[in-house]
Amino acid sequence: MPNVASPELLLAGEHNQSLGVLREYAEFWKTPYSLEQTGQDPVVFASGDLPDDAERMRACIVCPSGPENARSIARRLGLDLSLKAGPLRIPVSKSTSVSINTIAYEFQGPNLETLISGSGKTVLQRVKGTQIHLMCVGLVTDYVKQLYGGLHDPPSAKFHFITRMPFSYSAIPVGIRSRFFRSTTGPFEVGEEKLGAIEFLRAAFLASVSVVAHSPIPRIGFWKQGVSSAIAVSHDVETSQGLRSGARRLLEVETKLGIRSTWNIPSSRYPISKDDLNAIAKWGELGAHDTKHDGRLVLADSDGMLERLRACRRELEFVAGTAVIGFRSPLLQHSRGLLASTHKAGFMFDSSVPSWERLSPTSFRPHGVGTVFPFWVDGCLELPVSLPQDHQLIRVVGMTPADAADGMIQISKWISGIGGASVLLVHPDYEFAFPENLTEYERLLHGIIQPGSTVMTLGEMAEWWRFRSSAGWKAGDGRAELRQGNPPDASSRLEVQLVRSYGEDGFEVEMLN
Ligand SMILES: [Zn+2]
Repeated sequence: MPNVASPELLLAGEHNQSLGVLREYAEFWKTPYSLEQTGQDPVVFASGDLPDDAERMRACIVCPSGPENARSIARRLGLDLSLKAGPLRIPVSKSTSVSINTIAYEFQGPNLETLISGSGKTVLQRVKGTQIHLMCVGLVTDYVKQLYGGLHDPPSAKFHFITRMPFSYSAIPVGIRSRFFRSTTGPFEVGEEKLGAIEFLRAAFLASVSVVAHSPIPRIGFWKQGVSSAIAVSHDVETSQGLRSGARRLLEVETKLGIRSTWNIPSSRYPISKDDLNAIAKWGELGAHDTKHDGRLVLADSDGMLERLRACRRELEFVAGTAVIGFRSPLLQHSRGLLASTHKAGFMFDSSVPSWERLSPTSFRPHGVGTVFPFWVDGCLELPVSLPQDHQLIRVVGMTPADAADGMIQISKWISGIGGASVLLVHPDYEFAFPENLTEYERLLHGIIQPGSTVMTLGEMAEWWRFRSSAGWKAGDGRAELRQGNPPDASSRLEVQLVRSYGEDGFEVEMLN
């Protein structure tokens, strides 16, 4: 197991939640950290108040937990403070940047030096003559707002109205539903700051540690050795026609390209037979997609959710005769309660939360979780749907399949540039599966496969992320030893990396194996 020099990174939060978020940053990058001081001279990353002995530390980075807290830090250091709303952007590599729209804390005073800046605004400052460093972004507060806030998508009155209709909402002809869901505001636009605000915060965390520590920081690559980004192709099968005809056409294209995909099937919306399911399970992978797919799952109480989740899994497994390990919610509906229930119902992962959607069919607002990487919440492993789905682009925004494919390819290039997971959702019931659009579907698949990327089913992606999550470091005495993941024999596939520095071209990273 690799054993490398590593500065001690000590995390300190003013309460459990903020400490938990700082840990999530370190766990995301898989950099060594400690919660109790073990060595002489740790680099301290603190959220909230400046530690009492900050002046005597080797180095301290403090990120304010809100405007009041930032004012109190400024007072203690004799600085002025102004709050500036707007975009911030920093590079992660020569060609790729990450950004966020937020309110930045700009400390002002003659004794301040800027160490990291972006879009003309300061990200990290140092008080000259000291090793006190000030983060100008609320790494904890913005993370909670973007990620946990993004899991909350309250159903609008319009949504309640549709689901209260005496018949299932799926009985409404698709054309009428699409008009109901159609957005009326502004042009279609997906930016880095919408899809990946969390990626900005994560990059700002690691960049600050790298700049302040002045020595290489070990981390574990996101994917197995030699792979720099990941792709999963998924399908939600809405109708029996989609299952019998559309799915077969899409499968033909995928088998030709050697791509295995994930097919999410409702267990009791339309009749399913073992033959239908075997045709797709033989090449790809089956996932559960609720029972009736009537839009009411997210409105159920926790017992009702659990019952439905268990039933759809049980029924699908019974008909297919294979294990079903993943869940995709109808209409990408989600809530923390629903995610916790998928975990309780025995699913290994969920893939229902969009990174960003122009129009949530639940809240009828733009909505998303702001990350393009898998993440854990309440015991559930979530694989966000990171590329805008075909239904949104073609039926809500009104794009042609060719334009929709171009948009998805463009976004997947950015996701690949930051090492993320491009999760594609294409329905066999909609335009891409029409015979006349199959060449566009093939072009789309070709386009989202970037150099260095690997195509996985959602189940394989979940299995890898679970394995990577179980690995880590045993740190102490200025060194860190890789702690193997579970199963141990897979640990040799982890890519150990050293972040050598951070500058205008982003992170300088060395691969150790
Ligand atoms: Zn569906």
